[in-house]
Amino acid sequence: MGDKQDVRVNGQRLWDSIMAIGEIGPGQHGGSCRLALTDEDREGRDLFISWCREIGCSIEIDDMGNIFARRAGRNSELAPIVAGSHLDTQPHGGKFDGIYGVLAGLEALRTLHDHDVTTEAPVEVVVWTNEEGSRFAPAMIASGVYAGLFEKDYAWARSDSDGKTIGEELKRIGYMGEVACGEHPIGALLEAHIEQGPILEAQQNQIGVVIGGQGQRWYDLRIKGQDSHAGSTPMPGRRDALVTAAEIISMVQSLAMDFAPQAVATVGEMSVHPNSRNTIPGEVFLTIDIRNPDEPALARMASELRTCIIDCVDKNGVECDLDEIWDKPPVQFHADCIAAIEDATRTLGYSHQQIVSGAGHDACQVCLVAPTSMIFVPCAGGLSHNEQESAEPADLEAGCNVLLHAMLTLANRGGK
Ligand SMILES: [Zn+2]
Repeated sequence: MGDKQDVRVNGQRLWDSIMAIGEIGPGQHGGSCRLALTDEDREGRDLFISWCREIGCSIEIDDMGNIFARRAGRNSELAPIVAGSHLDTQPHGGKFDGIYGVLAGLEALRTLHDHDVTTEAPVEVVVWTNEEGSRFAPAMIASGVYAGLFEKDYAWARSDSDGKTIGEELKRIGYMGEVACGEHPIGALLEAHIEQGPILEAQQNQIGVVIGGQGQRWYDLRIKGQDSHAGSTPMPGRRDALVTAAEIISMVQSLAMDFAPQAVATVGEMSVHPNSRNTIPGEVFLTIDIRNPDEPALARMASELRTCIIDCVDKNGVECDLDEIWDKPPVQFHADCIAAIEDATRTLGYSHQQIVSGAGHDACQVCLVAPTSMIFVPCAGGLSHNEQESAEPADLEAGCNVLLHAMLTLANRGGK
């Protein structure tokens, strides 16, 4: 056996595997449509498992359908060092979101197999069920059950638009495992992922060492004015809910700019009532999504948002109901995992930077119960959740080498 430091992954094999999974449930425009727990999802899972068995891995599936493929270590008492992500996609999804993290984990294990390297702790690849949340809401539900954020009965009962539930569909495709979700130990979880944003590309860095995930708060806002005739109602004294909404949307934008560069804020959904061209809109519903990696700053954004909305509503002579429907605090990844990734990146000589994840990931759930971090690689134009999503083979290979060496560090801690 050679020096473990010299071991490198096979970038071509990684790329070919990503392309092979991408053929299952092909999209119309070069991406994939492989919704959670469909026949296509089963086919992707089956192919992944067959690849894992080829290199001698054992497979364990829990009762949320999460798959753990294990390569034994010298000491089977130690909790495994786990790499992975998800294989499900958006309806118009790309070939890389999630898939890369699973197959980078597999490529790391294949490389250990090729070079006959045995780690102290076992090493594993995990596939989390229904990360995307597009067939079954909410997203990241199976990693959420693993982390104790959701009850399993609640998760099993979530249904798609045809009324089929996660529990039924897990059984139908043969992925309702025996092990209770959450019982499979994880010594550390490393998730490799495309960035899904433009920062690494703009900074010309190949690797993002992810130090945590943003906090986010979601709001439903209902503005109530008064329907009235568009021709005969003078401008003074109108109670126009849509004009108020327009001011609020522009305030939401300014709020994020005030907390730059890390904050983001979005009004993504709006409905206007009665939605008639010659009636002043009496009611508007809209959603607000604010995010910041820093909890005190997020709390300040939330309080400023509330004050601005109340002032604006008063000024326009309308009323509103503002409901905060979700409050997810920022997450900080584990120092040991961050250090393992950063050291591997340095040793391998890749350009890199620390980065905060703008999107939610399974790692942002599991980090509540196990040491966790993520490795980001650039994707073209920062584009994701789009069939045009793409990434450079060299960047995918670099991220996979970082993953392999960070896994080796963590799996050999305390070992010889
Ligand atoms: Zn993803």
